[in-house]
Amino acid sequence: MSILDELATRLPADCIQTDEEVVASYGQDRAIFEGAGTASVLVMPRTTEEVVATVEAANAADVPIVPRGAGTGLTGAANASDGCVMLSLHRMNQILEIDTTNRTATVQPGVINIDLKKAVADVGLFYPPDPASFDMSSIGGNVSTNAGGLCCVKYGVTRDYVIALEVVLASGEVMRTGRQTIKSTTGFDLTGLFVGSEGLLGIITEVTVKLVPAPPPPSTAVAYFDELPDAGEAIVDIFQQGHEPSLMEIMDQASLRQVEAVYKMDIDTSAACLILIQTAGDRASERIAEISQLCTKHGASFVYHVDDPHEGDMLIEVRRKTWPAFETLGKALLPEDVAVPRQHLPALLAGIVDIGERHNVALPTIGHAGDGNMHPLLVFDGNDPDETSRVKKAFAEIVRLAISLGGTIAGEHGVGTLKREFVNEELDPIQLSTMLEFKKLLDPKGRLNPGKKLT
Ligand SMILES: Cc1cc2nc3c(=O)[nH]c(=O)nc-3n(C[C@H](O)[C@H](O)[C@H](O)COP(=O)(O)OP(=O)(O)OC[C@H]3O[C@@H](n4cnc5c(N)ncnc54)[C@H](O)[C@@H]3O)c2cc1C
Repeated sequence: MSILDELATRLPADCIQTDEEVVASYGQDRAIFEGAGTASVLVMPRTTEEVVATVEAANAADVPIVPRGAGTGLTGAANASDGCVMLSLHRMNQILEIDTTNRTATVQPGVINIDLKKAVADVGLFYPPDPASFDMSSIGGNVSTNAGGLCCVKYGVTRDYVIALEVVLASGEVMRTGRQTIKSTTGFDLTGLFVGSEGLLGIITEVTVKLVPAPPPPSTAVAYFDELPDAGEAIVDIFQQGHEPSLMEIMDQASLRQVEAVYKMDIDTSAACLILIQTAGDRASERIAEISQLCTKHGASFVYHVDDPHEGDMLIEVRRKTWPAFETLGKALLPEDVAVPRQHLPALLAGIVDIGERHNVALPTIGHAGDGNMHPLLVFDGNDPDETSRVKKAFAEIVRLAISLGGTIAGEHGVGTLKREFVNEELDPIQLSTMLEFKKLLDPKGRLNPGKKLT
């Protein structure tokens, strides 16, 4: 039987969508240059049983399945493969339980990050992972990409919060991984295996995350530097002196100029860069003052710090405005996502400037300075083949620069199709073949999200 017949015998009609335009609109994420194939059908389950039925139908018809959360990914990881079932989890959007005693929440994968944050805030708790897409990306997508964000420097990434999963395997079996207790040492960490697996190992149908008490409002500092290396040294020193900022972001001059041009925020556009820092919790106010002094010591041209949370929010807004400011240019935007050990941040930043100049491409850079995770943004005319080719060369050179500095090709956005060709340059052959063995064990026919990440 065809895949449509197989699905129709197992699922309610309103779970199945075949309208070509609608199916196509679910078959592409936000990675504008990563081509997507043509899915044969879109399935929108509401329950784990309906996900199982979809997997069984795809197995019977021998077609691939591409899981999708909210489609905000930046690497093509949720793009359709030809003939696949596009499996969108967006209707599985219920918060199932918030347990204030054990400080956990159990949710379906389609819950949007901000909805979980708000629901737990109502009971005085905090779910830290905060990708900048937190108002549109799903928890299932965040888990599958191991999403990061602005506050990872203190609180860690999505991986650090996922304690249990329900997963529908390629066989159609339903597996529960992990624990509901605060600790457990039984067995291997299968939960961790699925975090960041980009839909290659199974379809996540339930997620239990741990929560922390809501932190008090942060104190905030901004520091302008006239020289990028000085900023790099200040960042390293802040950590060497034992500080633990809850946010530490950097914006280079090109980013500052674009935000100022669009939003007129009284930014010093002559500075080489701006560092934005927050501290939260114990001695936050004293610590932000100490961090400010360190910035001054390392040559900051202007430093300002506040304890008022609203004023702090306004200062951080400069960073949040960067992407929208570049969007106003109406050009193609290709965000890079590489990370290096903190001490190599100055070399990474200098190297990015050099790559931009050599290839004559605009390369404004923002990033999570405290994590060594930079997002150089390639801004270009996607209709100009010469410029596009220079951009692709610059993109590859940044990736290889990060590897040469002991870093990673994909700090938080994942690999998808965008960076698949570089994976074997970062992972040694033993790691890579071990990962491929896991894939073969869990998905022997290679039906789950083929052509992404490793395969
Ligand atoms: C403006 C903007 C800002 C961003 N900022 C950040 C940032 O600060 N930090 C960051 O880390 N990312 C960021 N991103 C990237 C993106 O939002 C994240 O990668 C996010 O985690 C993707 O979630 P999603 O629900 O959109 O997943 P999708 O894009 O739909 O899918 C991502 C991957 O997860 C898989 N998947 C989704 N759901 C499931 C499931 N239930 N089971 C199995 N596999 C599944 C898909 O197959 C795909 O491989 C940003 C994106 C945008 C557009």
